[in-house]
Amino acid sequence: MEEMDFEDRIVSSSEIAEDTLGNDNPLRPKTLDEYIGQEKVKENLKVFIEAAKKRGEILDHVLLYGPPGLGKTTLSQIIANELNVNIRITSGPAIEKPGDLAALLTNLSSGDVLFIDEIHRISRAVEEVLYPSMEDFAIDIITGKGQMAASYHLPLPKFTLVGATTRAGQLTAPLRDRFGVVLRLELYTPEELAEIVRRSAGILNIPIDMDGSLEIASRSRGTPRIANRLLKRVRDFAEVMGNGSITCDIARIALDKLEIDELGLDANDRRMLEAIIRFYNGGPVGIETLAAAIGEEAVTIEDVYEPYLMQIGFLSRTPRGRCVTFAACQHLDIAPPNGVMPGSPTLFDGEK
Ligand code: ADP
Repeated sequence: MEEMDFEDRIVSSSEIAEDTLGNDNPLRPKTLDEYIGQEKVKENLKVFIEAAKKRGEILDHVLLYGPPGLGKTTLSQIIANELNVNIRITSGPAIEKPGDLAALLTNLSSGDVLFIDEIHRISRAVEEVLYPSMEDFAIDIITGKGQMAASYHLPLPKFTLVGATTRAGQLTAPLRDRFGVVLRLELYTPEELAEIVRRSAGILNIPIDMDGSLEIASRSRGTPRIANRLLKRVRDFAEVMGNGSITCDIARIALDKLEIDELGLDANDRRMLEAIIRFYNGGPVGIETLAAAIGEEAVTIEDVYEPYLMQIGFLSRTPRGRCVTFAACQHLDIAPPNGVMPGSPTLFDGEK
């Protein structure tokens, strides 16, 4: 089976250099009001931020979770903006030793936000230092060995930790429990994504009409990062094929050429669904088996492929593995295997 590098996918939701246009990405909203969608999350955050400001206290630690590209990093910067404090950005794998974390923490000013992306990937040793610093705003440093060993209790400035993860389930319970605010980001609706596309087009000076923005939005897998990327690709087509304006027709032609179908599925999604249908009779198939069959990492399947395919009702998780649905077979124009019937299997939807 032909393997395709995941990072090459135009509908990949992980960040690539062109997404950020340098360090200061102009497409990132800077305030809660500019941040489109995620109404529940915004409502909650607004209350907690206001309350903290009124009391003159720091904001409780915040955990943001959800698939990549939904706006977790953006939201952490907005939290810092709204609180009028500085933000330090790092990631779980970048903090190699407890000393690295100690250095980060001692350099914060009172009230600052420390953003740790992929927080589920911090090491146990670092986690041990993180607990007391989150709880007591202090760390214990041990120097020397044996009889010469000495322990220092080092007070830290009070700070707000904003952690982001694609999978809250992978955090250890004690770490999860130390977050006062836990917020789950959802995939965006096509209407919300269309608004994001129009906002981005405005910032980038790209003329686009309502239908053009909706066409791009409905093929963006519920993910703002993908919507912004498709907007830039479609702009290229609009400039070459027409006068630079994006209409529904231009968007449709461009996205078809990029082999992103009308639901936002690309060759990789189709390959995975087809593998389940053809090799495993529509499922159930275990995640590891499926990963091996299509030459993809299990975590990539879980974090990137599945959320959207489940959202549109093409895939379901059952206790015995993944199953494709009747609707997926219809979309792919493949005869449904025996047992894949309209409306099934949804009994165990959402369970692992
Ligand atoms: P994550 O950290 O969850 O992977 P990011 O915060 O990096 O995602 O967001 C990816 C891109 O999508 C950002 O550059 C931003 O421009 C855009 N984006 C995300 N959420 C929104 C939103 N709610 N409104 C407008 N643009 C958004």
